[in-house]
Amino acid sequence: MKPFRLHEPTTVQEAASALADAGGGAALYAGGTELLLAMKSGLLAYDTLVNVKSIPGLDAVTLDRDAVVIGAGATHSAVEHDPLVREWLPLLSEVEHGVANLRVRNVGTLAGNLCFAEPHSDPATLLLVYEAELDVAGPSGSRRIAVGDLQTGSYETSLGPDELLTAVRVPAFQAGVRAAYSKFGYHHRPTLGIAAALAVEDGVVADARLALGCVSPVARRLSRSEDVLRGERVDALAERSSALREASRLASEDADAVEDMHGGVDYKEHLVRVFMERTLLRALARNGGGDG
Ligand SMILES: Cc1cc2nc3c(=O)[nH]c(=O)nc-3n(C[C@H](O)[C@H](O)[C@H](O)COP(=O)(O)OP(=O)(O)OC[C@H]3O[C@@H](n4cnc5c(N)ncnc54)[C@H](O)[C@@H]3O)c2cc1C
Repeated sequence: MKPFRLHEPTTVQEAASALADAGGGAALYAGGTELLLAMKSGLLAYDTLVNVKSIPGLDAVTLDRDAVVIGAGATHSAVEHDPLVREWLPLLSEVEHGVANLRVRNVGTLAGNLCFAEPHSDPATLLLVYEAELDVAGPSGSRRIAVGDLQTGSYETSLGPDELLTAVRVPAFQAGVRAAYSKFGYHHRPTLGIAAALAVEDGVVADARLALGCVSPVARRLSRSEDVLRGERVDALAERSSALREASRLASEDADAVEDMHGGVDYKEHLVRVFMERTLLRALARNGGGDG
């Protein structure tokens, strides 16, 4: 690997300035589970790496009104085991447990996962149904964006070259939301990820949030399937009503699946239909409410 300089900032501002000063010759470094592999294989080369984890407090997980705020230095394992995440976002804790393997989870960060923008990401899909937001900082200040506005393509984000993600803000689901996440695949990374969050009032789906990831370059919400589920009775859906099957069919139609090493388009569309049904049934079966 080409030698590089390691910059260890102690503030977010210092990190942003280091990126700006390098004029594109520097990259942020968190767990390094993606970045160092890409550098070792010669796919990426930087003169300077700016270590996110050297910024004190950036790994904190805190509560801000109804949202859990996860600092950019927090590893997958830290998120999985954090008491606030377990209490307010049990489905995120469950999904983090299923990311990669223990070695990767112990050093890799949630923020690094999102910012690498690899299409086969579990959190990028799940966070769409939480309607999470991201705090972004740069030399000229900070801004907040919807999680769905981060990734613009395979390995591409809307972040400027001198910007860093500082925190992931995840609002807890309202009471009465039944949620589930399914992943499937035979490779290291998932071939498919589906998240469902159904707000149930008086036995009826009052609101539905569905997200699909991994089968195409960017994870997406499935608005046509969500529309079909709103107003449907939970007991009918649980019996695999025509609405449940139609929502799953539309999900497969709207998948925009692409062929890659995980499989062809037809195969992925079939997986989406089957796993959407299963995910909805699992979410509906969580009749104690909550997302866990
Ligand atoms: C064997 C293996 C299996 C895996 N399985 C899964 C899986 O099942 N599901 C899944 O979702 N993922 C999986 N992954 C991906 C894994 O989650 C990521 O590798 C990890 O989260 C990346 O985090 P990191 O801190 O190591 O990022 P790094 O490698 O340090 O950085 C990754 C990228 O993000 C940028 N970056 C890092 N932090 C910031 C920041 N704060 N602001 C802006 N840019 C930043 C870096 O510059 C770099 O471009 C797997 C990875 C491996 C190696």
